[in-house]
Amino acid sequence: MLLDTQTTSQKDVGLDHIFDSQTKDSYQEFLHKAILKVSDFLNNEKFYSGASPAELRSKKLLIRTDPTRSLSIDETLSELKELYLDHAISFHNPNYVAHLNCPVLLPALVGDLIASSVNTAIETWDQSTSATLIEEEMIRWASSLMNYPDTADGIFTSGGTQSNFMGLLMARDEFAHAHFGWNIKQHGWLKDISRFRIFCSEKAHFSVKKNAALLGMGYDSVVTIATDDKMKMNPKSLILAIEKEKQNGNLPIAVVATVGTTDFGSFDPLAEIIAIAKQTNIWLHVDGAYGGCYTLTETHKEVLKGIENADSITIDLHKTLFQPVCSSVFLAKDKKNFRYISYYADYLNPLENRDEEQPNLIEKSIQTTRRFDALKLWFTLKMTGEKRLGAFLEKVHYLALELYNNIKDDSCFELVHKPELSTLVFRYKAKGITDDKIHDVINLYVKNTLFKLGEASVASTKLNGVTYLKFTLLNPRTTINDLMKIIAMIKQKGLEYKKNN
Ligand SMILES: *Cc1c(COP(=O)(O)O)cnc(C)c1O
Repeated sequence: MLLDTQTTSQKDVGLDHIFDSQTKDSYQEFLHKAILKVSDFLNNEKFYSGASPAELRSKKLLIRTDPTRSLSIDETLSELKELYLDHAISFHNPNYVAHLNCPVLLPALVGDLIASSVNTAIETWDQSTSATLIEEEMIRWASSLMNYPDTADGIFTSGGTQSNFMGLLMARDEFAHAHFGWNIKQHGWLKDISRFRIFCSEKAHFSVKKNAALLGMGYDSVVTIATDDKMKMNPKSLILAIEKEKQNGNLPIAVVATVGTTDFGSFDPLAEIIAIAKQTNIWLHVDGAYGGCYTLTETHKEVLKGIENADSITIDLHKTLFQPVCSSVFLAKDKKNFRYISYYADYLNPLENRDEEQPNLIEKSIQTTRRFDALKLWFTLKMTGEKRLGAFLEKVHYLALELYNNIKDDSCFELVHKPELSTLVFRYKAKGITDDKIHDVINLYVKNTLFKLGEASVASTKLNGVTYLKFTLLNPRTTINDLMKIIAMIKQKGLEYKKNN
């Protein structure tokens, strides 16, 4: 019986797709073919094919997977081309100026490929060895970029949202510990938490509110402070708001200063906010998801001065360091605050085995299994170098200024700010029309039409209830001529709308 019945463990279940010493040739073949297909993607002329959602949905046979059929690498790649590569949005295309997506660096891509193939999980030393040392070194680099002292520490996260989450978590738990002797990590909720208040500008990223809710404090805990005409937090309003909350019996726990707001790239006045946070003795978190990496430049030294006084900092390398998604760093000035996050699991990192020589980075992360994202940055710093990165950032900043100067006197446009970073918010204004509602419709028509035709991707946002268009410039190869072509398209579409309506 036993002789002619194959047990499952002996059956040939098709192991030729497992990355191991037996599949080296396939590994090289698959990746080589994939790289050729992705190179073809770079030939796409438009930033987007312009395919409608219905056209893409109609490819459902390509989207679905079939349990009875397995395809070859060639078949799969050719399906993917038709389904995705021909229609993916090219962030490197000069006509893509919508969101905070940067073109990525070749060295970073190499790092990403290696990290994925070797598949290091960076939570414990016994899963990562020297990868842990590389992440630690990248954190030290980021930390020194922020002028932080040796007491600082940090961790790679999935993005600015998660980094901001960690900053607010530390602020919350440190306040509860200092003022109530309460350990939230151990005991959970405290009724006074509903009186905790966090202050940020009205232009701060929505993740402040979202995270406050996830941390049990609720949207209501976030007090938004008015900004001035340069979209910067007004420090006097901050002082008044803190006073008012105190009078109402609430407990100010933190202020979030944004260096580089998502829409306007504006910098909150750091020096004043630092002084207020110190005086009030509350946590200062700096959200530098967009502007934090500008410490690499000469142009933004002044607006970032004093950043080392922050209790915690967020920087997004997948926005302004040309890294593939995900790559973000959270830093805390005093490493002991990571105790609010650490957990010691018997099967992974038991406390009694804690060993400084063999650190377990999981102690600083809210994730468990975690990608080796630091390798992309390591490749970037080794090959591209921080000087060149700084030059890229200066270049896109100057590009935004040049665009501003080029269109500020054009009667077709109304500009709301002079760029402090690399975005420009403005709207098209049709001649003879005074009603903002109509302008809203025209601007949205322009944006949507350019996208649908695959001509250009421009973002839109609202200011005081009015719709504006937004350029976010993160591509150092883009020229002012490229941008003026998009400006010409906007005018043309604006005129077209007027003619047809
Ligand atoms: C983009 C952004 C975030 C969120 O970062 P993700 O990486 O998208 O999670 C937070 N703050 C600011 C200022 C941002 O611009």
